[in-house]
Amino acid sequence: MARIGFIGLGNMGGGMAANLAKAGHDVRAFDLSAEAMARAKAAGCLPVADAAQAAQGAQAVVTMLPAGAHVAEVYETAVFGAADTGAVLIDCSTIDVDTARRVAEAARAKGLHPVDAPVSGGIAAANAGALTFMVGGSDAAFAKAQPFLDDMGKAVIHAGKSGAGQAVKMCNNMLLGATMIATCEAFALAEKMGLDLQTFYDVASVSSGQNWSMTTYCPVPGVGPETPADRGYQGGFAAALMLKDLRLAMQAAAAVDADVPMGAQAAELYARFVESGAGATDFSGIIRTLQ
Ligand code: NAD
Repeated sequence: MARIGFIGLGNMGGGMAANLAKAGHDVRAFDLSAEAMARAKAAGCLPVADAAQAAQGAQAVVTMLPAGAHVAEVYETAVFGAADTGAVLIDCSTIDVDTARRVAEAARAKGLHPVDAPVSGGIAAANAGALTFMVGGSDAAFAKAQPFLDDMGKAVIHAGKSGAGQAVKMCNNMLLGATMIATCEAFALAEKMGLDLQTFYDVASVSSGQNWSMTTYCPVPGVGPETPADRGYQGGFAAALMLKDLRLAMQAAAAVDADVPMGAQAAELYARFVESGAGATDFSGIIRTLQ
C-alpha cells in the first residue's frame, strides 16, 4: 500500500479520497475547507496542514480542484517543491488543455511523472469508486497512475500524451451538452403534439433517436430510470459545471480552428440557463426552458 497526497476534497474528491483510504492506502488529505477535511478524516484519511505536507513523501499526489488556475497554483506553490522525485502527479480536475500541458511539462522538468486524468461520472460514481478516467501522459506515468485510478474507478483509459485526457473529456462533454438539449427538445415537442411521454420514450429508446441523455439520464420526471428529474432537478451534474465544460470545449475548438456549431449553440443555451439562476441545479433541468 502506498502513501498518497490528496488535494481537493469537495463533492468529487471527498469520495475519491475515501476510496483510496478504503483500499488500504495512507492518504494525507488537504482542502481549504475545514468541513471537507473533517469528512475526509471520518472516511479514514489523515488531514494535513497544507498541500505541501500532503505531497511530501507521497508516491502519488492526486488533485481534484475546480479549474486550471487552482491546479497550476497548487502545483507551483506546493507540490513541485515538496514531492519526491519519481512521484506520480494525478490531476483529476477538469481543466483547459493548455494548462494541463504546461503543468505537465513543468512537472517532468522536476523529475515527476504527471498525468491529466479527468473523470466521467458524477458524485455517486465518485463515492462508489465507479468513475471512468481518461488519461493523458507518457506510458511510464500512466503505468504508475493506473493502480491508484483502479481503486477509484471502473474504467481507466490511456488517451494519449499530456493534455489528451482533457481533450477527450471536452469532446465527450460537448457531445453530452448537445444531446441533452436535443433530447429535451424532442420530449418538449412530443408533449406539445399531445403524445404520451412514456410512449414516446418506449419508442425512441429502442429506435434511432436513442442516446445516453434519454435512457440513462432522462430529463422527464417519471419516465425512464430514476434520475435528477425525479428529484426536482436537485443533485446530479450542476448546469454551471456543464457550462464550464462547454466553455473549455469552445476555447479548445478556437485554438485548433474547429467548426463546432452544435457545441456553440449548447454553450449559449446553457449560459442563458445558468444566468437565469439555475446554475446549481442539474443540467437536465434545461428542459423546463423548452416546455
Ligand atoms: P468542489 O467545488 O465540490 O470541490 C473542489 C474542492 O477544492 C473544494 O472543496 C475546495 O475547497 C478545494 N480547493 C480549492 N482550491 C484549493 C486549494 N488551493 N487547496 C486545496 N483545496 C482547494 O468541486 P467538485 O464537484 O468536486 O469538482 C472538482 C472537479 O471535478 C472540477 O474540475 C469539476 O469540473 C470536475 N468534475 C465534477 C463532476 C461533478 O459531478 N461534480 C463530474 C466530473 C468532473
